[in-house]
Amino acid sequence: RLRVGVLALQGDVREHARVLDGLGAEVTLVRRPDELAMVDGLVLPGGESSVIDKLSRAFGMQHPLREAIAGGMPVYGTCAGLILLADRITDGIDGQETFGGIDVVVRRNAFGSQVDSFETDLDVPAVGEAPVHAVFIRAPLVESAGEGVEQLATLDDGRIVAVRQGSLLGTSFHPEMTGELRFHELFLDMVRAA
Ligand code: GLN
Repeated sequence: RLRVGVLALQGDVREHARVLDGLGAEVTLVRRPDELAMVDGLVLPGGESSVIDKLSRAFGMQHPLREAIAGGMPVYGTCAGLILLADRITDGIDGQETFGGIDVVVRRNAFGSQVDSFETDLDVPAVGEAPVHAVFIRAPLVESAGEGVEQLATLDDGRIVAVRQGSLLGTSFHPEMTGELRFHELFLDMVRAA
């Protein structure tokens, strides 16, 4: 069985663990460097990226996470997790930092308070023909992406909401909340291939 972790400092950890377990992976909740060392891939959940950032530094996890990413460990981030994978963010709070790895600029809470949350169907050829029902909750947007970044999904107006670069995958939305399994399957394929 593939051994994968879910970073369990804050956020919708359980939803991801349930999906991964359902797909046959052996799931570890990762809070410490020794737990990170046991897994072959990691999910960064949705939640509040500034809190996850702070806790990761308090728990001595920022450096090990950056090293794991630089070392090629497959990582999938949803929403706050995508923010944490971005090389740059436009509007972090309180000196917010990221782990980085994906050559993108991400704007947090990009849809503003008028449109806190919404759902839409997306075309995502990388996961198959059937549309993806995507739930956005105070979601980030990818404002710009470097040349090495694959754009996996955009909204009708062209704004980017799913990306992949090397062994890193990120979505603005939350497949773990809607029974959508194909992104986690893609992530597990990336873990298998690594
Ligand atoms: N707005 C949150 C942040 O900045 C992300 C929201 C989410 O993960 N659903 O981290």
